[in-house]
Amino acid sequence: MSQHNYKKHATIGFVGLGTMGGRMIRNLRGYADLLVYDVDPARARQAAQDASATAVSSLADMAKADIVVLMLPSSPIVDAVVRGSDQAPGLLKILTPGSMIIDMSSSTPTHTIENARLAKLGGMSYIDAPVSGGPTGAESGKLAIMVGGSVADFEHARPLLERMGTSVIRAGEVGSGHAVKALNNLLAATILAATSEVFAVGEKFGLDPQVMHKIVNASSGSSFMTQHTWPKAILPKSWDFGFAMQLMNKDVGIAMALIESTGVQTILSKASAEMWAQGLAAARPGADMTELTKQIQRDAGL
Ligand code: NAD
Repeated sequence: MSQHNYKKHATIGFVGLGTMGGRMIRNLRGYADLLVYDVDPARARQAAQDASATAVSSLADMAKADIVVLMLPSSPIVDAVVRGSDQAPGLLKILTPGSMIIDMSSSTPTHTIENARLAKLGGMSYIDAPVSGGPTGAESGKLAIMVGGSVADFEHARPLLERMGTSVIRAGEVGSGHAVKALNNLLAATILAATSEVFAVGEKFGLDPQVMHKIVNASSGSSFMTQHTWPKAILPKSWDFGFAMQLMNKDVGIAMALIESTGVQTILSKASAEMWAQGLAAARPGADMTELTKQIQRDAGL
């Protein structure tokens, strides 16, 4: 049983209405009274229009929310919104006991665990529910959502999360969702880097990239990258898969800190993290993750 005396989902707050949040909120239309907040008021106004929500002009206006969802760029920003800053109080001061905060951003697991500890002191609950599926999944309500929190908190949040995702899986205790999200993206980043190198070698040897793709994709070297990223953004050289290189780097950085904290020795993950950091440093601002492949091709003289 939950330690919290939950109220019905009467009012839901949503903070962060960018690429992901601005789409996710549309799937909550009609589900509850919605309050939306973003530091960019134009984004909050747009979200209010799209989801029949009320745009509020400060976090303090979220006081009556039973659940507040966060979809913010980074852990430091999540921490400031939750704990407050010199300029403004955070949600832990604003919300009432019995309410819940759901961090759907890709955040650092240790920060999540600390935020959950602080929330508990105030009689609130805090869970992590990061997502995979990008803007398309956000728009269609078909995100994969990985949740960290107690079974009771997970069950409390599940109906809301199921409005935004089709695969809603409890990963474990609080912080687990953020851990598995970062590790999954480290894996994806490493596979993209490895596939890019191997394809550059094949092309240098004289293989036709289209033919090589057809063969690898039907063989044991196949992956999400060869199935989706290659045909959409790499073979046509549009370099616009829709996931920013900077966001991939953020997730790789979170995963590397996690690896360090566990003491597990890694060779491949370290090399991959280095490639991604160098790739980001050399990329134009806002570059897509497929920029790494472009750089590898260029360095190979292709
Ligand atoms: P984004 O930068 O497009 O949106 C973030 C929004 O937060 C912006 O509208 C910004 O104005 C707002 N914001 C920033 N600081 C704020 C504050 N203090 N208070 C209120 N609002 C604030 O980012 P995004 O692409 O929507 O990503 C959000 C999160 O989801 C990130 O953690 C990202 O890693 C994760 N994610 C993104 C994708 C993707 O494909 N874009 C996929 C999976 C996960």
